[in-house]
Amino acid sequence: MPSPSPAPRKPLRVAVIGGGIGGLTLGLALRAHGLRAEIYEQAAELAEIGAAVALSANATRELARLGLGPALAAVSTEPTELIFRDGRSGARIAAHPVRDGGAYRTRFGAPYYGVHRADLQKVLSGGLAGEGLHLGHRLAALDQNGDVMALTFANGVEVEADLVIGGDGVRSAVRRWITGGERVRYSGTSAFRGVVPMGLLPSLTDPEAIQFWMGPDAHLLHYAIGGEADSVNFFAVVEGPETWTSERWLTGIAAGEHRAGFAGWHPAVIEMIDAIPQTQRWGLFVTDPLRRWHRGRAVLMGDSAHAMLPHHGQGANTTIEDAVTLAELLAAGGARDLDGMMRRYQALRRTRTRTIQRSAWATNRLLHLPDSIGPEGLARRDARMARFPEDFGWIHAFDARDAVAEAVAAEPRAA
Ligand SMILES: Cc1cc2nc3c(=O)[nH]c(=O)nc-3n(C[C@H](O)[C@H](O)[C@H](O)COP(=O)(O)OP(=O)(O)OC[C@H]3O[C@@H](n4cnc5c(N)ncnc54)[C@H](O)[C@@H]3O)c2cc1C
Repeated sequence: MPSPSPAPRKPLRVAVIGGGIGGLTLGLALRAHGLRAEIYEQAAELAEIGAAVALSANATRELARLGLGPALAAVSTEPTELIFRDGRSGARIAAHPVRDGGAYRTRFGAPYYGVHRADLQKVLSGGLAGEGLHLGHRLAALDQNGDVMALTFANGVEVEADLVIGGDGVRSAVRRWITGGERVRYSGTSAFRGVVPMGLLPSLTDPEAIQFWMGPDAHLLHYAIGGEADSVNFFAVVEGPETWTSERWLTGIAAGEHRAGFAGWHPAVIEMIDAIPQTQRWGLFVTDPLRRWHRGRAVLMGDSAHAMLPHHGQGANTTIEDAVTLAELLAAGGARDLDGMMRRYQALRRTRTRTIQRSAWATNRLLHLPDSIGPEGLARRDARMARFPEDFGWIHAFDARDAVAEAVAAEPRAA
């Protein structure tokens, strides 16, 4: 008699909390390996708040591998150069070609893009075509019974999963379950932001470059977005207020309050921050370094694990790296050893994201040097800005898939 065939292995039940940049990318990356995820998003519809996001090669190479390259290119602008300027005089302190001469693509093998958040979300959710996406599901409670995770949503729905992935952002409920506390902290800096039609910026030179305007206790970053580079996304950061008392990360401001940190700055800066009505201040929050990114059958990704200051423009990019890493590890046998998979994932991701988090703090200081630092201090800063691509190329050159492949090859049975 033929021996009975083994019972078919049950498909892994993966529940992703949050349908943000990380959750959607993870859904796509898992699907590319024939794995399915159920993605639970609290919002009733995918309406991205905020303005734009800069995507660097460490993320655009992954999105291209997921088949999103042409759709992303159609809605993005490649900056001509990366330029650092004195915020008051407007003098060019350092400049590095990006699109010009194909410099960035040649160096890193993938493009650098400015993209409207709503467009990025459309590209990601369009790729997913609604598969496994459950809107209007806010995770209210998480519990573990043996190897099974029990999830309860605010709408009364209850589901079970073999693995829960917390892509639920900086105020993550999954992180609270894993760490037993709140690990988010106000950075002591805040920002004003907006998207301005190019036509409202007559004093702006090099409008298609990504530019940092630097000065005491403040800086302004901007880059062009949209398939036609018709708008500029800006992000004006100031030191303070010292404490943040609001429960939310946005607070209303008095008329003209956004100008206080930029008195006497170059007209291009003033035009930009004044071009659209400013009614709110964004508090910049970070996640304190976590000792563990996982507990039981739950693991974190993106801002829930490593929300960072945005001065390297890496929050979304490292989130995309996380998503790809998780999908690659699960596909490489991790689905059969979830504990080993989560340990390996943490080992692959924690040091890199922590290093970028730390570097973003250091960059904040460099961008906001006081006049009292003197000419020698400013000259040291300028020299750093002149070396920017050499000093920070490691961020952009990173290849998340290669990193997983190397780790799996080094220790194949623990994948
Ligand atoms: C001002 C600013 C500018 C930035 N600029 C850049 C940039 O240029 N480049 C860059 O790489 N990064 C940038 N970032 C960072 C980037 O936006 C984040 O790092 C990125 O969005 C993190 O993705 P995520 O998927 O982890 O979280 P999010 O995109 O925040 O998504 C989390 C999702 O989880 C959902 N959610 C939350 N709680 C629950 C719950 N209990 N149940 C169900 N769903 C839930 C939320 O509704 C949301 O949709 C910037 C951030 C800020 C604040």
